[in-house]
Amino acid sequence: MKAPDFAYARPASLDAALALLAEHGEDAVPLAGGQSLVTALNMRLSAPGLLVDLNAIPELAGVSEDEGVVRIGAMTRHRDVGTAALVRERLPLLAAALPHIAHPAIRNRGTIGGSVALADPATEWPACCLAAGATIVVRGPGTERRIAADAFFLGLYTTALEPGEIVTAIEFPVPGDGAVWGFEELSRRHGDYALVGLAATGRRSAVGLSDLRLAFFGVADRPVLARAAAAAIEAGDLTGAQAALADELDPPDDPATRAATRLHLARVVLGRVAGRMRDGTVKEET
Ligand code: FAD
Repeated sequence: MKAPDFAYARPASLDAALALLAEHGEDAVPLAGGQSLVTALNMRLSAPGLLVDLNAIPELAGVSEDEGVVRIGAMTRHRDVGTAALVRERLPLLAAALPHIAHPAIRNRGTIGGSVALADPATEWPACCLAAGATIVVRGPGTERRIAADAFFLGLYTTALEPGEIVTAIEFPVPGDGAVWGFEELSRRHGDYALVGLAATGRRSAVGLSDLRLAFFGVADRPVLARAAAAAIEAGDLTGAQAALADELDPPDDPATRAATRLHLARVVLGRVAGRMRDGTVKEET
């Protein structure tokens, strides 16, 4: 299928992009990597009158560090996020997630800001944001909002973004001493959307794991922090943690993958990730 007719603008500054979005209201949408939006246009799931292309706004791309925070510009491509030396050193969780995002062509075009703004519940970056305690930086006309990831993902493809706002960056606190992380994803084929995934951060000491943040994806209408499961693991009770997932997750139930299957897989993934975090080992990603 072909996309319906639309107008196209390629502003060279964030202010110009915001002005276009304000002028055209809900008839205009930002275009980032186009890896989800163009598909939606071609399938006629979406028919905006104007695409505001963010690709010519240099300030929106790049990775930098300042005062204990790694800032990743919204237009940074998936590949550039996961391969940046700063990310590999400071935020290895993100580097581990990268190979699970679709395929090379999509990773070369798709952006972290587009992924976060889209909020597909089966995707990696939103869960990583939640696990890492990231802040989503959002600009509107004359306003800037900084929204904790915990408060940003509200439901299926639904976020705290207001019409006319643009995600400009995602800020990740640099993990401190004793920090550990874990990542595991199960999908039918490598690169497919996750059946179940888990991005996790925490701290490890001689007495065990603490400050655990377990962000599951593919098992609810948004990425989910499993708080009771985290508390059980901190208490050394993996079986209790796996049992707690029945109340904390709300997996979709479809004929291809039943909810009970996803819940079972979530428990398997939790056992693997918790074990590696406890032992201080890292899974080799391919
Ligand atoms: P676009 O497609 O350009 O935009 C997506 C939406 O976000 C649009 O509504 C747009 O208006 C809005 N938007 C974009 N940027 C901003 C911004 N800065 N501020 C506000 N709103 C904005 N993703 C995964 O994470 N994991 C996968 O396994 C995966 N598999 C895929 C498989 C296929 C076959 C395809 C086609 C896509 C897959 N994707 C997957 C999606 C891909 O990662 C997209 O790149 C991503 O979801 C959207 O990023 P984008 O930059 O392409 O955004």
